[in-house]
Amino acid sequence: MRPSEVSAQPPASAGSDLRAELRFLKGVGPRRAAELERAGMRTSDDLLHRLPIRYEDRSRLVRSSELRPGEAAAIRGEVVSTGLRQTRRRGFSLFEMLLRDDAGTFRAVWMNQPYLKTAFSPGQRVLLYGTPEWRDPGGLRLSNPQHELLGDGGEGDGKTGQGLHGARVVPVYERIGSLTTRQLRGLVHRALEQLPVDLDDPLPEGLLARRRLPGRRRALREAHFPAADAPLSLLNRFRSPAQVRLILEELFLFRLGLEARGRARTRERKPHAVRVDDRIRRSALAVLPFRLTPGQKDALRTIVDDLRRPHPMNRLLQGDVGCGKTIVALMAALVALENGLQVAFMAPTELLAEQHYLTLRPLLARSPFRVVSLTGSQGARARRDTLAALAQGEAHLAVGTHALVQPSVAFRELGLAIIDEQHRFGVRQRATLREKGRRPDVLVMTATPIPRSLALTAYGDLDVSVIRDRPPGRTPVDTRMEPESRRDAVHALVERELRLGRQAYVVYPLVEESDKVDLKAAAVMVGALARRFPGHAVDLLHGRMKPEEREAVMARFAAGAVGVLVATTVIEVGVDVPGASVMVVEHAERFGLAQLHQLRGRVGRGPGRAWCRLLYQEPLSDVGRARLEAVAGTTDGFELAEHDLRLRGPGEVLGTRQSGLPTLRVADLVRDQDLMEVARDEAARTMREGVAGDLLARLDAGWMERFGLAGVG
Ligand code: ADP
Ligand code: MG
Repeated sequence: MRPSEVSAQPPASAGSDLRAELRFLKGVGPRRAAELERAGMRTSDDLLHRLPIRYEDRSRLVRSSELRPGEAAAIRGEVVSTGLRQTRRRGFSLFEMLLRDDAGTFRAVWMNQPYLKTAFSPGQRVLLYGTPEWRDPGGLRLSNPQHELLGDGGEGDGKTGQGLHGARVVPVYERIGSLTTRQLRGLVHRALEQLPVDLDDPLPEGLLARRRLPGRRRALREAHFPAADAPLSLLNRFRSPAQVRLILEELFLFRLGLEARGRARTRERKPHAVRVDDRIRRSALAVLPFRLTPGQKDALRTIVDDLRRPHPMNRLLQGDVGCGKTIVALMAALVALENGLQVAFMAPTELLAEQHYLTLRPLLARSPFRVVSLTGSQGARARRDTLAALAQGEAHLAVGTHALVQPSVAFRELGLAIIDEQHRFGVRQRATLREKGRRPDVLVMTATPIPRSLALTAYGDLDVSVIRDRPPGRTPVDTRMEPESRRDAVHALVERELRLGRQAYVVYPLVEESDKVDLKAAAVMVGALARRFPGHAVDLLHGRMKPEEREAVMARFAAGAVGVLVATTVIEVGVDVPGASVMVVEHAERFGLAQLHQLRGRVGRGPGRAWCRLLYQEPLSDVGRARLEAVAGTTDGFELAEHDLRLRGPGEVLGTRQSGLPTLRVADLVRDQDLMEVARDEAARTMREGVAGDLLARLDAGWMERFGLAGVG
């Protein structure tokens, strides 16, 4: 037994898992252990699942006569002489080394690493890896090459006959604190040496055989220290069999957890059966203000099927801005209402909640159902009445903001919870609304198209319906990016539309809704625009206005009494005024891609053409330009979402709040979309084959938590 194994390790690590603590690993003292711990690395498991960020091929040794500028090379030689000198720039030093091999001499230099002076002495044999460059004067040299001292036999560490850092494909790690890639390589190597021979493998044998993948132990070894003949290009694309196996393992377990949770859900029973008969169909039709599009019909049919099932619905309704999700939700609500159940309809902003309330109430005016609104800025008295009506079941449909999830809110029998623009809410809020009922049906809606890979992840256990069509007569919004110098031309477009009786939004970025300076800027603009468009009312809307004021402004704009609405991003989501045909975004460079797409979605909501002008201030950053060009280039929300994913990464795309994304260690949601699909299929198959339970039971307790699967959905 090696000394490191004699030390006081917890008994669990003796088994077939990877729970050995890093602080017991040779070469890890208290200081390193603390550094590793700060980076979230406590056990071998943590360390070994932090894969190299790339690999370098040092297996092909060249001779000094074969060095070429710009071509990375590994070379072996004997130190002839060394020297340290200060450069003309103060505080900079250059360590130089002259080496020799059987083809001649060559040089290497290191910037600002004076301590190397003590590491090398003439006569030593070393292995260097780096990219030669041509310097005048002086000729070819290796700058800051990686280096390794070779033993007497000239063969690396003498044990394996191959240097850890030397003549092979070597892994390159991201630094952890003061731990260099070189030091990490050593630690990983030691951790690998201690892998239990009977290391447990959670992947079913059938899967490994089908996908021709190595077992877990071998995969871990080869993902860190690839075999000599492993193709570098595959490795650097993270598609070597070893890497694929580890990525797939993570995604597979995640999907399996989702499947297991989904199964558990289908065993739940709603306390009430929901029925749909002709009377209910007629009552819904009576409320419908227009004919549904085929996409809306499909979505509604699926939702109603869900409602009639014995277990609670858990469905995501996706559809680009303006496709008409609200009415579908209302039809679903009617089914619940007609079955004697209450419905909650939650929206992320007061403005949107108010608008939904104003849309839904008149539609239900002739029905027996009472619609109430619940937002944070309501008076205490009105709030008390509303709460009482909901608790007693006298109010049937509650439209509101997150005020709906406050502890004081109780329903008599909440049967359906609808969450609009659900990505704006945290996981917790969604769960709390659900808990207001006894296993109610849940319908969440979003206009933020979710790239497939993310949908499989973040909403993995939601059933998804997508509305792909739009109400008749809609044409894509004509979108262009324009420098500020073109503002006059943009205003001319606004004027033309105003003359035709249409309306316009002019949106200002507001970093904080509480920022007084920005608000003043917007207020000043109102004056300037009023002078620019005489004869048309120009009004201001922002988040700090009192709800009554805001409602009044929105009502005037909706009625067509206001021509130009200067607004902050309060109007970003949901706002629906079909008469508006122009959207002007000032400082468009300050907005995110999804935000711009949402803002654009405020126009083109009726028949007739619509325009969006993205005014930007120069100079534009590259990313800023890419973003504006993407929005101007397509009105397809899904295409934009894929773009956004690449520009910003998954966490950001799903919103900064708790996004419900799992913490992944080896997989990457952008890079590994294809493997996510494989993982889904394999997990479903494993469930079908009935071996999942046994497998899940073997996993340690923490894994559900890591994937965000513990508890809420
Ligand atoms: P979103 O999916 O973005 O929430 P809305 O539900 O707000 O879209 O609908 C956008 C606009 O389209 C609304 O004015 C709505 O009344 C209208 N609309 C929705 N469905 C239809 C339809 N089938 N025919 C005509 N207009 C529709
Ligand atoms: Mg909407």
